[in-house]
Amino acid sequence: MYQMSVKTRAVESMRGSGTLFSLPERRMTAGTLGWMVKEAGSVALQNLLDVQAHDSAIDRLDHRKATLPESQRLTELNDNVAELNADIAIATKNRDELAREQDRLEGEMGLADQKIQREESRLFSGAVSNPRELKALQSEVAMLKRNRGAAEDGLLEIMVAKDTADSTLSSLEAERDGKLARAEELGRTVASLLGAIDSELEGHQGARAQAAATIPADLLELYEKLRSTKGGVGAAALEGGTCQGCHTRLPSREVERMVNEGGLQRCENCRRILVVV
Ligand SMILES: [Zn+2]
Repeated sequence: MYQMSVKTRAVESMRGSGTLFSLPERRMTAGTLGWMVKEAGSVALQNLLDVQAHDSAIDRLDHRKATLPESQRLTELNDNVAELNADIAIATKNRDELAREQDRLEGEMGLADQKIQREESRLFSGAVSNPRELKALQSEVAMLKRNRGAAEDGLLEIMVAKDTADSTLSSLEAERDGKLARAEELGRTVASLLGAIDSELEGHQGARAQAAATIPADLLELYEKLRSTKGGVGAAALEGGTCQGCHTRLPSREVERMVNEGGLQRCENCRRILVVV
């Protein structure tokens, strides 16, 4: 019977009637419900304000957790590190290609040197005396030296390019390592901030559960419904004639009626549960 009545009241009030009941219903049920409304108005309603205070604190802490500036900076830093790692991979590939090209050219020059030495020693050994053969050998040595010179020019270019690639790579690595170190430090800060928020959350959740245990299920259900549609505030105190939910000053006759009636009341402006304090 109690549960049903509260639910009926809740549904009625959700429909937007100015007071909890339309007048005929109020008369019909006045005998039993009058008592129950008063009952709901005492400890349970005061505890509902506690629940609201803890829920608001939990919402603020959840929001703080989700929007922690340090977490956002950490995400940015980690993104930077990831971008730098991608750049480092490209720079490493570039530097390795140049190093391979340098090795190849150095090998080519080594072979050219051996060949030139071999041909020159044949040229100067006196073993070749035929002038035509000598001329051919001389042209061969000249050609080998030209090729070697071209390879040397290429090698010098590659070495300059490789120096640039090396310094690009090491400056990227230094930048990455610096950001990594900052990210690690910031990661520890974020973990400790989140840990502190979590322990605050736990405190509120425990206290909220204790306060909620004393509140009838239907009243809590009405509160939750209002909370979900009214910016997280389902119950508010009536202080000095002003609803603390919407900060509207209520007409003094309405305030007087609520104070006299006690029990579960709703703000006529925002429809939140009003607790007379
Ligand atoms: Zn209000």
